[in-house]
Amino acid sequence: MEKLRDNFGRSFPYIRLSITDVCNFKCGYCLPNGYFKPSNAPGFLDISEINNLVDALSDLGVSKIRITGGEPTVRKDFFDIIKIIKNKKNIHNVVITTNGYKLNKIAEQIVDTKINGINISIDSLNSQTFKEVTGHDKLKQILEGIDILQSKGFTNIKINAVLLKGVNDTERDFDAWSDFINKKKIDFRYIELMQTGDNLNYFNKYHVPSKIFKDYLIKNKWNSIDRVSDAGPSINYVNPSSKGKFGIIAPYSKDFCKSCNRLRVTAKGELRLCLFGNTGVSLRPLLKDASQKKELLNLILTQLRFKKESHYLELGDTGATPHLASIGG
Ligand code: SAM
Ligand code: SF4
Repeated sequence: MEKLRDNFGRSFPYIRLSITDVCNFKCGYCLPNGYFKPSNAPGFLDISEINNLVDALSDLGVSKIRITGGEPTVRKDFFDIIKIIKNKKNIHNVVITTNGYKLNKIAEQIVDTKINGINISIDSLNSQTFKEVTGHDKLKQILEGIDILQSKGFTNIKINAVLLKGVNDTERDFDAWSDFINKKKIDFRYIELMQTGDNLNYFNKYHVPSKIFKDYLIKNKWNSIDRVSDAGPSINYVNPSSKGKFGIIAPYSKDFCKSCNRLRVTAKGELRLCLFGNTGVSLRPLLKDASQKKELLNLILTQLRFKKESHYLELGDTGATPHLASIGG
């Protein structure tokens, strides 16, 4: 039973859990200068703290956990963390978001660990553009990884790209993805670029409303479909002539927050009620020992009362988020 409900009637079967802030990529909109460890910063949650956390979340009726970061696969105990989460009784859906930098090397382990789904970030199918956005020439390895996953029968693969003005926003880019998703039977979503504390100049230069992609979809006879209850924030589109689905994640759209069904926990154990809210509380003092579970459950339930109705992003309020690697996008 879902016990996590807020004052606006929304329930939260879905948690995004970041397991590290570290990332090896340098995406222009996120960590353009790469990851730097702040001096004296506390470490990330260890596997025992993660175990205590997900145990409580399972008791609260959470059914889906997305492991994200930073880049979650840089952690040496990445697959051990997945195994622990998969063992919890209510959590039926364990999915990951990755930049895919070593997907070709870990694809078999992903299948063997029975991860339920994978979101891979690929901002362009053009390897030069991919390199310019991420700072890394890894497109080939990522696409190879997708082929290996599919050859092993893994089906729940979604690709995310951030829509960037003058970089990947032409009909030619959209057509390339249209061919790709049909050929590979894969889903693809554009995420509208979000302003964060650190990226104002980049945002001003590259932000383009996702409406341009929506217009393309409508022009090419794609139809929107309904969301399911623990689905992510994407509005999805189908077309009878395609084996893949398209999607749009548009955080600035009017009703984006109405369908919010997810909370976040940062890699250092802070519960964040909204990707962009200033409100957050550290759960870490209550993650040291399994005997603290009752207090932990109470703290999470109490915090939910403070979740606001909207992120107010359209007013330029980016909250406490310098970049999405610091909270788990
Ligand atoms: N490193 C992994 C990756 O890139 O998939 C996981 C973490 S990353 C923060 C999660 C997602 O957030 C990625 O799809 C990334 O493209 C997206 N993202 C990061 N910064 C963003 C921004 N300012 N606006 C929109 N999407 C952003
Ligand atoms: Fe790393 Fe993901 Fe941020 Fe790119 S978007 S810098 S891959 S955390």
